[in-house]
Amino acid sequence: MVCSSVMADSNHKPIGDDIKNVPIFDAHIHYKEPAWGPYPPEAVIKLMDKTGVAMALVSSTPDQGTIKLWKYAPNRVVPELRPYKKGAGSSDWMKAEGMIDYLNERLDSYPHEGLGEFHVHYIDPDDIPMLRAVAKMAVERDIPIHVHSGAAPVEMFFEFEPELTIIWAHAGMSEPARVVMRMMNKYPKMYADTSYREDEILYNGKITAAWRKIIEKHYLRLMVGSDTWVNDQWDDYEYLIGLNREWLSHFPREIAERIAYKNAEELFDRKISMDQIGTR
Ligand SMILES: [Zn+2]
Repeated sequence: MVCSSVMADSNHKPIGDDIKNVPIFDAHIHYKEPAWGPYPPEAVIKLMDKTGVAMALVSSTPDQGTIKLWKYAPNRVVPELRPYKKGAGSSDWMKAEGMIDYLNERLDSYPHEGLGEFHVHYIDPDDIPMLRAVAKMAVERDIPIHVHSGAAPVEMFFEFEPELTIIWAHAGMSEPARVVMRMMNKYPKMYADTSYREDEILYNGKITAAWRKIIEKHYLRLMVGSDTWVNDQWDDYEYLIGLNREWLSHFPREIAERIAYKNAEELFDRKISMDQIGTR
């Protein structure tokens, strides 16, 4: 199997405290309406500055939040189109009337570089035409979809469109590590963000064995994320980014930098560095 030259050197030491100087790409930010008051765009960018988050993948309910943040700091935001709006939430967006037109219209009007993050809680056969259309749209526009679901919907999307790029939100959230490994092995065009997985990756100060295997094998397709889905997450933003730096510090520089920001650089064709901190 593919093993990088880094791993061949078993003495390769962890990056340790130097992780503090590595910029972060936060692959899972939401800028939802309840955050706009307590966390105006300048406050969000200040939080990113304070934590060394150079850039972020942002999706919001409604999408206006993403556009607001992107307009304020276009060099810090990769906008992503979330289908949620009035009358279209996480459990029924695929049933909302006019959804395909809405998505096309937003994608034509703004430079979104992904579709999501959206949920597929379970596969309702009635939703399949819509899900198939979303997958097709993403391939035609050459953008990834960012899916919060178990393994089954991801498999379904790849059956619809084998050329699709998928970012698996939270690496499947509640899917066990062995399923994450199986999925990463099976789908070379699948990335995963590790938001909400931090305590599983680093447990009692140690990287857990199952996650170490996933990370050492698939570090070219993992990204970190905060998931600011409620304001509590914004309140805890410094802690959350610190938590991610902490687990990354246990890996060699090449792996840590890849997951911290270099995979995102490649995926979204950006240049990411600490020079972006304090700018917009
Ligand atoms: Zn989310």
